[in-house]
Amino acid sequence: MGEYEKPLPIPNEDTKPFWDSLKEHRLRIEKCCQCGQFRFPPRIICPYCMSLESEWVEVKGEGRVYSFTVVHHAYTPAYEGALPYVVAIVELEEGIRLVTNIVGCKPEQVEIGMRVELTFEDVTPEFTLHRFRPVTL
Ligand SMILES: [Zn+2]
Repeated sequence: MGEYEKPLPIPNEDTKPFWDSLKEHRLRIEKCCQCGQFRFPPRIICPYCMSLESEWVEVKGEGRVYSFTVVHHAYTPAYEGALPYVVAIVELEEGIRLVTNIVGCKPEQVEIGMRVELTFEDVTPEFTLHRFRPVTL
């Protein structure tokens, strides 16, 4: 196994709790303490009620494919070995949408509305990334 060559997140003050939770193989989402809305991406102020008070709440990571595309062209050499792969927007049961990859099935098996669940990929000692796979019934 060589060095991980794909881009990695650059956490900032707002997003660090999200990446830290993934490293612990948990998914935590920012939630407004005043109106109770989940929000993503993390930000300092609630877009619904303008409150500055928020907490990080662990969620199960279950949802559905909201939209997706199958990537067939490597835009950088680091992705050549991964082709073809699926970039998707997954809508969690909590209502927020995350950009992610669908793994654990062939790209042609991915469908809008498909039930998916969170899985984790430890890509470096510092970073774990969120992926989603089909829910097997
Ligand atoms: Zn709010």
